[in-house]
Parts: sequence; C-alpha cells; structure tokens
Amino acid sequence: MDRPENQPLPGPGASAVGASCPLPIQRYPQILMAHGGGGTLTQELLDRVFLPAFGNPALDAAHDGARLDVAGRTIAFSTDSYVVRPLFFPGGDIGRLAIFGTANDLAMCGARPRWLSAGFILEEGLPVETLVRVVDSMRQAAAAARVELVTGDTKVVDKGKGDGLYVNTAGIGVVEHEARIAPSAVRPGDVVLLSGDLGRHGMAILSVREGLAFEPPIESDCAPLWEPVEALLAAGIRPHCLRDLTRGGLTSALNEIAQTSGMQIDVEEAQVPIIEEVRGACEILGLDPFYVANEGRFVAFVDPADAVRALEILRGHDVSAGATSIGRVEAGTAGLVTLRSRIGARRVLDRLSGEQLPRIC
Ligand code: MG
Repeated sequence: MDRPENQPLPGPGASAVGASCPLPIQRYPQILMAHGGGGTLTQELLDRVFLPAFGNPALDAAHDGARLDVAGRTIAFSTDSYVVRPLFFPGGDIGRLAIFGTANDLAMCGARPRWLSAGFILEEGLPVETLVRVVDSMRQAAAAARVELVTGDTKVVDKGKGDGLYVNTAGIGVVEHEARIAPSAVRPGDVVLLSGDLGRHGMAILSVREGLAFEPPIESDCAPLWEPVEALLAAGIRPHCLRDLTRGGLTSALNEIAQTSGMQIDVEEAQVPIIEEVRGACEILGLDPFYVANEGRFVAFVDPADAVRALEILRGHDVSAGATSIGRVEAGTAGLVTLRSRIGARRVLDRLSGEQLPRIC
C-alpha cells in the first residue's frame, strides 16, 4: 500500500490515467520496492529518468546488454546488481547469481561471455567466513560459465546500512556471428520457444524466507545459459531474440519484447511447463508462476522454419532439456501479450503493476 506521504505526483497525462486506472503508473516522489520489480514502475523509471538522461542507440535497443562495435569486432556489455535475501538458498547463493546472471545477459545478446568485473559492498560486521563462502561459489560458477573475473572493487558501509553483502557484476561478451539478436528483430510468425519449467528460483527463495518446507524442497534453477545458445548458433540457427526470464518472470519478458518490437505475442498455457511443487507453492502463497523469477530459463524467438530443429537442439542440453514451443508472434496489437487457457479462453497477460517478490536477485 502507498504511504500517505508517498502519493503519486501528477505527471504528464496523469489526471486522465489516474482517474480511471488503479495501477500505480504515475510518478512517485519516493522510490518504492516495486520500482525494482521489473514491472510497470521499473519501466517508468527507465522511461522517465534513465532513458531521457542517457538515451543512445545501444541503450534504446532495450536489450539485456548493449551491443557495441569496437575496433572491427562486436561485443556485448552488461551489468547487474545482486541484493538477494537470504544470501544462501536451495540451489544457489548470491555469488552464483552474480556470475550466472550477468553471463546470461551476455548470452541473451548472442555473445560468448568472457570477462566479468565484481564490485562488493560489504556491511561492517559481516563474518569473513560468509564472504569466503560467496567468493568460493563465484569461483566455481565462473568456471562453469567459462568466464574470468578480471577486475573488481570492495567497499564497506556502516553496520546496519548494507544488509550483509551486495554484489555488482559487469561483463563483456564477444559476438562471433553477423545476426542481430534483439527485440527489434522479432517478426510476425516467429515461434516462441521456452527453455524449461517456470518459477523455481522465486519459489526457492520464498520458501526459505517464509520458513515453508516443501517436500521435496524446491531448488533454484540458477544456471549458465550460453551452452544451448551457442549450440543454436553453431547449427546455423539465428534466433531473432533471446531473453532470460528473471525479475517479473515470463510475463514481464514477453511484455517488454512485445512493446519494443511493436508486435503481439500469443501464448498457449497448456504448453508452459510448471512442476507440481512450484504450482502448489504458488497456490498456497497466492502467486502466479508466470510472474515468478527464474535464473536459468529463457525464451528464444525463432523463424517458423527453424522451430522444430531449434527445439531439438535445446532439448539436447541439460539446462534446456524441458524446452517447449509456447506461442507465436502476430502483427496484431503492438505490445499486447495474450494467454489462451487450457479451456480455450484468451486473456491479456499484463505487466506486473506492483512488487510480487522483492529482493529476489
Ligand atoms: Mg536479463
């Protein structure tokens, strides 16, 4: 709920929108948790604060990283900060997330992840043993993702001002092909492939945070994603767009791509895999798995002629063994994402308007 001192300010067009729409899409005088949720308020920060200040062709592409031409080579450059709570959870920890998250954003640009930086913000009083555990996990994750940590930084903030440990990583990847993999390359008729089941990461975090014991325990899907992407590229398949399904889950990713590409995306609910444990946990907690964060899942938009072969290739790799074809791109209504339910009804899959799961990554 909004605090009284944090009522939305009237913004451009806000009176007309605010009168009829309960969604908090106006400007707020203070930052809310939902500004970090990957939904409408995150988009509002981008549209009203960051893009007007820094806008340039690489940033305006609204991709998982910037694609840059440097001395005749094309690279991808990306950064991400990690504030997950708790630091350790079933299937991963903040260190694994910080390596795989940034490496995966590079992979989603079609770039081979190569070099990472790591910035640590440590809270006074953090046990050194905790830091060592996180760093060791990062070392193992970097080996698994075949990236090197080549530069870094450490800062310490006062006790009570840092919640233990935050990590920022930035990364550089090398683009070794001519294809332009980006939301703007999505075309009508493209088939949407999903690399596996949804919701494990979010529910793994939440089960620890809420003290819920699921049997068997739900583990995060946190994993590096370059391998299946590399296999698609090596087979000559040129996905039009790739996107990992982190904050805001499948729905936010599809909405962003529908908006940037000016296309409509139609999804078949029956084709979207969700394991029973995640479905049950979501029901108990009143969450929609379509909006829950993943850390080892992505969607690939491919030409219909490539769809069957691409699916076979994805299924040949452990991390994407559960891949399915979940929908299709239409010229239709720009920015619209729809879901056809198991009984055939079609509804709009809207962006998240509030914050479903804060501090998830
Ligand atoms: Mg991403």
